[in-house]
Amino acid sequence: MYINGINLPNFMVAEPGESYQSNENVNRWVEVLVDCPGNSGLFTYRLPIHLEIKPGDILSVPFGAQQLGAIAIRLLSELNVDLPPEKIREVEDIVSKGFFKSAYWELLNRVAAYYYTPLIQVIRVALPPGLLGRSQRRIRLSRRVQDQETKTQKDKFSPPQLLSSLPFVSPTAQQILGLLQAQSAGDYSFAYLQQKVKSAYRGVRELLRLGLVESYLEPPRATQPKLQKAVTLIGTIDPDLTIRQREILEVLRRRGGEVWQKELLQICNASSSILKTMAEKGYIVIEEREVLRTEQSPALAQDYPKSLNAAQANALASIQALDGFAQVLLHGITGSGKTEVYLQAIAPLLKEGKSALVLVPEIGLTPQLTDRFRARFGNKVSVYHSALSEGERYDTWRQMLTGEPQVVIGTRSAIFAPLPNLGLIILDEEHDSSFKQDSPIPTYHARTVAQWRAELESCPLVLGSATPSLESWVSVKMQEAGGRSRKSEVGSRKSEVLSPPASPAHYLSLPERINSRPLPPVEVVDMRQELQEGNRSIFSKSLQAALQQLQERRQQGILFIHRRGHSTFVSCRSCGYVLECPHCDVSLSYHHTEEGAPQLLRCHYCNYGRSHPQYCPECSSPYLKFFGSGTQRVAQELARQFPQLRFIRFDSDTTRNKGAHRTLLTQFANGEAELLVGTQMLTKGLDLPQVTLVGVVAADGLLHLSDYRASERAFQTLTQVAGRAGRGDDPGRVIVQTYTPEHSVIEAVQGHDYQSFSQTELEQRQALNYPPYGRLILLRLSSLDPIQVQNTAQTIATALSTNEGFEILGPAPASIVRVANRYRWQILLKFAPDALPQLPDWEEVRRRIAACRETSLCPPSVSLTIDVDPLNIM
Ligand code: ADP
Ligand code: ZN
Ligand code: ZN
Repeated sequence: MYINGINLPNFMVAEPGESYQSNENVNRWVEVLVDCPGNSGLFTYRLPIHLEIKPGDILSVPFGAQQLGAIAIRLLSELNVDLPPEKIREVEDIVSKGFFKSAYWELLNRVAAYYYTPLIQVIRVALPPGLLGRSQRRIRLSRRVQDQETKTQKDKFSPPQLLSSLPFVSPTAQQILGLLQAQSAGDYSFAYLQQKVKSAYRGVRELLRLGLVESYLEPPRATQPKLQKAVTLIGTIDPDLTIRQREILEVLRRRGGEVWQKELLQICNASSSILKTMAEKGYIVIEEREVLRTEQSPALAQDYPKSLNAAQANALASIQALDGFAQVLLHGITGSGKTEVYLQAIAPLLKEGKSALVLVPEIGLTPQLTDRFRARFGNKVSVYHSALSEGERYDTWRQMLTGEPQVVIGTRSAIFAPLPNLGLIILDEEHDSSFKQDSPIPTYHARTVAQWRAELESCPLVLGSATPSLESWVSVKMQEAGGRSRKSEVGSRKSEVLSPPASPAHYLSLPERINSRPLPPVEVVDMRQELQEGNRSIFSKSLQAALQQLQERRQQGILFIHRRGHSTFVSCRSCGYVLECPHCDVSLSYHHTEEGAPQLLRCHYCNYGRSHPQYCPECSSPYLKFFGSGTQRVAQELARQFPQLRFIRFDSDTTRNKGAHRTLLTQFANGEAELLVGTQMLTKGLDLPQVTLVGVVAADGLLHLSDYRASERAFQTLTQVAGRAGRGDDPGRVIVQTYTPEHSVIEAVQGHDYQSFSQTELEQRQALNYPPYGRLILLRLSSLDPIQVQNTAQTIATALSTNEGFEILGPAPASIVRVANRYRWQILLKFAPDALPQLPDWEEVRRRIAACRETSLCPPSVSLTIDVDPLNIM
């Protein structure tokens, strides 16, 4: 293993000895990932001479006493020294060639290289758990043999066994052929043949070589398909039925003639005996059906394409005119109808037999969006995200592999959804930070992966947002302006993966809301002023008046709070002591469960909880005070000041249960409350036309975070939440409370002015070489031992410092040094966007950290995560 021009003296281990075959560059070994729980590493096998194996093939290999499925990862011409060649076993066979399409395989490899992650870990993100385990290898007579058999049968020949013309077949092979010929389909699972015939694999190999049989991988089958009773209408409704029976048939008819029995009984409030009677009379059929465990949603009324306004029509035409790979930034203000453009761009693709992939920030937050897709495309839509149960995920995966034209909506990991024939990729709310994985590795950004995927599959990528990320903004604007185009150097993989594809880029804008509705006016309230005027409430006079009006007129509004929990921290007014988590360096938050319940303090990092003390643990003062205003505190304050106002809390505390998002939003849409009170979640994709008021309790928490991205995030969040107001026929208004009304972000939000915000912000980024003008890599180190982690960080930073081409910031302790008892340090590397910095082989560094157990400088207990293009560097 080489290390790219970098000097890591403290990690040096013995160099591998000279390989005795170094001048002969022939691949003789293959590294595979075996499909066996608990064996996650790579295993090396010998390549048989007669087999042509490529990475991405599925193989069968001997493993202990078993025969296992495996994925070929890479071919080797040299062996690792610690493996004695005579101990290495041989690959038994290829089960399925090219299981991973080459574009998909290339995608996985790019992700692995760019994010410094072992390929296996990337494969694990991409494949649903246990995929290989459920696939089954089968052996069948080859077409030639089958044809010959039918011919002989037709010719009414006495069975001149095929074998008689093949004198050189071994007895094992003969036995296997005999078994297959005796079976009507000429097809058995390999496992069955192994049971029946001793050393079956040898015979199978022989027959394969002679072209008499074929080996194939049966598409995975759910081990236990889920069955459920379905009721189907068959007869007409005639007078010999009772009124009750007629009612039931009428319900059945209105629902398309087919309903799950459970559902029908519920709707009609009937018993199963009445259905049985009707089945006996021949009006209905009741039978078991397989339920695909894809996520279910309520039945929806069919929805039809809307006629587009000029800007939408223009955007749609531009997208449809694209041929092959292109990147589109669809910059549409809130309520401008981006989703309708997505829907109409997808519709013709499905007709052409292609599929579309739609990525959204968090699926739980967007039942509205999935409903809109389902209303348009019905059961062609499936949802794919990590919160699905294993069965649901597996079945959705299976459905994707069928190749049927479909729409998959999912969160970031869905970028790996194995949709064949991809026609379009869409990232909705592309600026959202949940598209980035912070840990574990690969620390990928779905947008970056989407760019590669679209390029590899030659399809367009649409990035939609009202507040585009500065990365997308700059990249599209620059390329449109014919700016720098970065060509990738063919042949050098490192440089290829580091350069964004030189893509045709298009900027499309939807500058107006649907029906020319105005954006809501934003009123900024100076809270310092309020305090001077004697208002100590967390609500300004203006907001109080607006809430009063909601209550009186039964209108609807949204109240946005930057934080969940009751308050940000609890401290002693007498001595200033702040109650902290014993495992993390953060203050505890006060959680109010219900009236009269014990008061609870909780850590938002590790979930540690304790009861609220009566007296200060430091000075015994009884005067403990809550600071900040979380959702709970605001909710209590609302209940006190506006007892008539009905509100629903919508935050991660109240939406923990499956389906809670949908339930709460439905309650709100049905007018069961005037106010929706919540955090970040309120900003993502809600389209509630009846909302006229949006209040932001305190913008300051967003503005003053110690992160170079704080302004961008604040602008995006505030603009998005403001955009929830006035989406229907009634005009909206927004009230933003803050202690720093003069902040440039607040001014830009007030003016709905993305351009001025981005210009100011980009100047600052450019001055300091922050993204998008520079790239960052964050090395996160953590350990239970505070000294070891600090020393290791220092060692790595020193080793890196001899390198040119990047700047090193740190090592520094993370802003919260200790989380769940682990001490955290970090090193930030900053380099030019075009530069190809010489970085060490991180796998090697990790291995060395683990290897040098003796030296105290690189202890095994330190874990290292490489966060490429980090979004959170606090
Ligand atoms: P965005 O995602 O840009 O914020 P949406 O796609 O949610 O906006 O659209 C806002 C509302 O306008 C939705 O209720 C949508 O159904 C409606 N809408 C979109 N396009 C049209 C159109 N061409 N005519 C009428 N209504 C439309
Ligand atoms: Zn005290
Ligand atoms: Zn904690």
